[in-house]
Amino acid sequence: MTEAERRRVVLLGATGSIGRQACDVISRYPGRFQLVGAVARSDAAGLDAVVRRFGVERCALVAPARGAELPDGCAAGLDAACEIAAMDSDVVCVAITGAAALRPTLAALDAGRRVATATKEVLVMAGELVRARAEAAGSRITPIDSEHSALWQCLRGEDTASVLRLVLTASGGPFRTRPLDTFSSITPEEALNHPTWRMGRKVTMDSATMMNKGLEVIEAHFLFDVAYSQIEVAIHPTSTVHSYVEFCDGAIVAQLGVPDMRVPIALALADGERLPGVGPPLELRGTAPLEFHEVDPQRFPAVGLARRAGETGGVAPCVLNAANEIAVETFLAGGCRYDEIVPLLADAVAAAPAVQAPSLDDVLAADTWARAFATARFTGSAVS
Ligand code: MG
Repeated sequence: MTEAERRRVVLLGATGSIGRQACDVISRYPGRFQLVGAVARSDAAGLDAVVRRFGVERCALVAPARGAELPDGCAAGLDAACEIAAMDSDVVCVAITGAAALRPTLAALDAGRRVATATKEVLVMAGELVRARAEAAGSRITPIDSEHSALWQCLRGEDTASVLRLVLTASGGPFRTRPLDTFSSITPEEALNHPTWRMGRKVTMDSATMMNKGLEVIEAHFLFDVAYSQIEVAIHPTSTVHSYVEFCDGAIVAQLGVPDMRVPIALALADGERLPGVGPPLELRGTAPLEFHEVDPQRFPAVGLARRAGETGGVAPCVLNAANEIAVETFLAGGCRYDEIVPLLADAVAAAPAVQAPSLDDVLAADTWARAFATARFTGSAVS
């Protein structure tokens, strides 16, 4: 590959779990990728290390701590992050946790950049809007989320009209077999102990409630333009099958592998091209048989709640997502019980004002409303 063929990569969320693994992939394939822009939320020292390692052209911190020493030439603020998202590149890797990724993602899509996203919250919050903006600018979204990367791989070269069902697999997290009558005493430490994947705190927590899978149902709907009635979830404790597709002729196509996020990251950065030796090989011979189970709606009510919010559409998924971010933060800080999370989310979705075909302002207003609703509920103050 010549210098001109190296993909110029912008990395948003460079110091988090996915961001660090993306840096690992980029540094292992220097002939393929060149990191040209990097954004982090507030980790100045972490961003400085990335800047020094890769010699990026532009960098920014979204919310630097007061008095923090910024890397040379580093800009600050969300507008600066959006400018870097739109700068000249071949792919913008979005690995910012949560709703904060929305504006930079839109900036990248509006500028015609291909977006490789690990942040499902963006499509959950504003799927219709994001799709419309991408279409208008002729830009594309490539999934990094392991299940969606799997579905993308299974669907390559297929006609989506021949898809019967997309099936997202879920490990079931740490509470797959825990007695239901002990859920009220679950601690943050227990919830953060995921059996198969090592991930950031927010997604690990969402995996415990299985809200993560609920959000992924909505993400899959927008990524692949498949009806909610054709998107299902199966519990698969070993996370060996990363998701599968059932076709109308009776064939099932699945993607398997050792759980290692560098594989979907590299595939997304390279726009579907397979690079040699990204992850460790999986040996199927001699391994335990593959197990799949139905999701128990009593144990994991978050999955059905998210599906219904997706079917309602408008700002309902945005409200669900924002309330969930507050609920997760509150639980991890010791401010509520584990079994209070999903009922709060259901109440937020039920109480939210209905808005169809939301604009960006509608989405941001719904996000703010849901955060205030959840915060007020947990602090016991009056809801406006
Ligand atoms: Mg996932």
